[in-house]
Amino acid sequence: MLGKYLIINSGSSSLKFSLYEMPETNLIAKGIIERIGQDSEYSINFDGKKIKKRFGIKNHNQAINVMFSELLSNELISRIEEIKGVGHRILHGGEIYSSPVLIDENVIKDITELTKFGPLHHPAELAGIIGMKEKLLNVPQVAVFDTAFHQSIPEENYLYAVPYSWYKDYKVRKYGFHGTSYEYILQMLKDYYVKDNINSIICHIGSGASISCIKDGQCYDTSMGLTPLDGIIMGTRSGRIDPSIIEYICKELEISVEEVLYALNRKSGLYGIAGVNDFRDIENLANNGNKNAKLAIKMFEDSIVSYIANYYFKLNGKLDALVFTAGIGENSSTFRKRIVEAISKPMNIYLNEENNNSIASFKKEKSGIISTLGSKHDVLVIPTDEEYIILKNTYETIKKSKEKKLILKK
Ligand code: ADP
Repeated sequence: MLGKYLIINSGSSSLKFSLYEMPETNLIAKGIIERIGQDSEYSINFDGKKIKKRFGIKNHNQAINVMFSELLSNELISRIEEIKGVGHRILHGGEIYSSPVLIDENVIKDITELTKFGPLHHPAELAGIIGMKEKLLNVPQVAVFDTAFHQSIPEENYLYAVPYSWYKDYKVRKYGFHGTSYEYILQMLKDYYVKDNINSIICHIGSGASISCIKDGQCYDTSMGLTPLDGIIMGTRSGRIDPSIIEYICKELEISVEEVLYALNRKSGLYGIAGVNDFRDIENLANNGNKNAKLAIKMFEDSIVSYIANYYFKLNGKLDALVFTAGIGENSSTFRKRIVEAISKPMNIYLNEENNNSIASFKKEKSGIISTLGSKHDVLVIPTDEEYIILKNTYETIKKSKEKKLILKK
């Protein structure tokens, strides 16, 4: 079990990797290969150093070869056999996976079938798994699913009011995403409040964004749906819309459903209204009086407030903490201030301005309470760490399978 573990996050044109020493969870190196298939760029950080190179990398298999030759040439590993396990971030586990799993032929088959729910992500993730298997034949690999955390959601919350056969025959339902982030935040809350039955509304607000309702220590509802397109307004995704828009705009613009979905995923949300999707740029534009940037912020924050209100009612007002996390939630004190002010009266929570202003990545603290002592509920900022959860789940899944084998042998 002691040794080096690789965490792989394989995107459609990128491969991110991190090398850890376990069980200490020491990060040895972190790297990324971008623009696979074009003029690819490679960078790796270790020992406070950063190395950048340009390669022509055709596919994920080649990217894996480059990763290993760089790990070897920089003496981060002395032999490939030093790797004791690999963890993969996988978008969609459907209804099959509610926890991480050791990858075998059946799991690969399931992930291949689930490509129908993750057409943008699964092909690259499968290429990552298969490429690693070719290199590290007998090394255990673990799939950690973004959807698994949400499998506790009850059916009244995960079903859509569409013909029931769509669910029974085609598994049309809400799955939810950002599961590893929620798992991390929930663990922090359990440690902080020293209890398991946490009630919380967790706002994971990054470029991709979602909100989850945690009841009695498990997920009760979440804003994303069958795919990450549903829910609150995001950087480039529309969030919840009237589905009739799709047919209408197909006809008006004479474009396909796929083209409309591309626009809903990549050209909508904050970008659709303000013309830019980076929240720092939008806040700057709004501060300089740009009307559409102001409108985009208003719409974005209104959609967030609607979900918080909905979940607050679902929790019957019993809330341990409202949490902000991810890029915008962790870093934008102005965003947090506006949200807390919008929900302040009905929820009886008040902002501690000093704490809110000091909790930002460029300021002294990174996490803490931003509500006043007189507030009815705590409001917290907690930086998320999805990679830590993938690493922990990978290590524990491999450990459990080894212990099971030992018991079987006895
Ligand atoms: P994702 O993982 O979905 O790509 P992140 O969690 O990395 O998203 O969040 C990215 C978002 O966070 C961007 O919109 C970025 O502008 C925003 N962000 C990062 N730092 C700040 C900041 N200091 N102020 C406001 N927004 C920020």
